[in-house]
Amino acid sequence: MNIAILGATGSIGLQTIDAVRSCISDAKITVLSGYKNMAALAPLVDEFKPEMVWVPDDEAITNLTELTNHPCEILTGESGLIACAAESKAQVVVNALVGRAGLAPTLAAISAGKNIALANKETLVTAGELVMSRAREKNIRITPIDSEHSAIWQCLNGSQERDIEKIILTASGGPFRGWRREKIAAATAKDALRHPNWDMGAKITIDSATLMNKGLELIEAMWLFAQPLENIEIIVHPQSIIHSMVQYKDGSILAQMGLPDMRLPILYALTAPKRTQTTFPRLDFLKCGALTFEPPNLKNFPCLALAIHAAKTGGTLPAVMNYLNEWAVAQYLHNKISFYDISEIMDKAFGIYKIKPVTSLADIHEAEGWAESFVSKI
Ligand code: NDP
Ligand code: MG
Repeated sequence: MNIAILGATGSIGLQTIDAVRSCISDAKITVLSGYKNMAALAPLVDEFKPEMVWVPDDEAITNLTELTNHPCEILTGESGLIACAAESKAQVVVNALVGRAGLAPTLAAISAGKNIALANKETLVTAGELVMSRAREKNIRITPIDSEHSAIWQCLNGSQERDIEKIILTASGGPFRGWRREKIAAATAKDALRHPNWDMGAKITIDSATLMNKGLELIEAMWLFAQPLENIEIIVHPQSIIHSMVQYKDGSILAQMGLPDMRLPILYALTAPKRTQTTFPRLDFLKCGALTFEPPNLKNFPCLALAIHAAKTGGTLPAVMNYLNEWAVAQYLHNKISFYDISEIMDKAFGIYKIKPVTSLADIHEAEGWAESFVSKI
């Protein structure tokens, strides 16, 4: 199997490398990309000897070539990333990029006829309708890496759509679950970066603290599984053992469980329907303690309420929300704004933005342009 890994130096990228290295003996990695972390990219280039590598600019090329011995084609810029997503030898593209940067490569991979193992949920939040319809036209398989969506996919296991009553999307609740609102208001990015169950990149860790991550995942699930909003229920399950569930029309519920380890959904996204032998730690029911469930607190976590509104409204609103959230999270990470400013910014923008239907990529770009100009005035 020839695999292109976009975002190889990140949390999902490195776990993909780990899973591929230890479990898929016939894998050849043909493309690798990094962004800031050339020290992490260089050893991967030397180990896997890809055909193509992507870095953002010429300075990064200089930094990378000082650290590696493998001569390969190194591309830069957005067009370079698109070329990497379409690289001729790869059969599957792992999209482990973070944020809006993931959309153009997803579309390029679809156009080039590559299957996609998708971690970059922002792709579907921004342009779910376009992405899914183009994938259908080209007969492309988009397999989810996000643990909840992998769980849902595994529970669905090819079931008839008419038999599904609802999807139960589980959420850990993040590091501020159960905190008082005043305490959350004062929480810094450092506090938010301490996730109880998962070790992830900075953006998704903040998204997990605001519960925006669950909002993004709600929209991701609607597109991936062609389900209406009312068929998806969000339930907080702090232990992150049940990764999500599907309830069928006879009342039967299937759950997918396991220890929180992203290598499992990554492997399954690459090899399904085949199961791979692994030596990853196993869940022991006699040791894992009680599994508990509670409703999400929309008052303390208004980002989730905003995302539910965007999911219900549709059109270009989710793209605007995604842009604003990414911007606000970056500001929060730099201690420029407070926790509740993230939702405030989106709330203000939602009040004045004129939503349009999405008929083409240009509509998405226009919506993101509006969001860009909105934040430039803050
Ligand atoms: P990271 O921040 O750890 O990694 C992001 C990767 O993308 C890195 O390789 C980074 O390079 C690169 N990158 C960052 N910005 C750009 C850019 N503008 N252009 C091109 N490349 C860029 O993120 P995660 O791995 O945590 O998340 C990746 C995606 O997977 C996200 O969409 C996230 O929501 C999703 N996801 C992540 C999970 C997790 O456990 N981490 C779980 C489920 C979903 P560099 O590091 O060199 O700067
Ligand atoms: Mg998830």
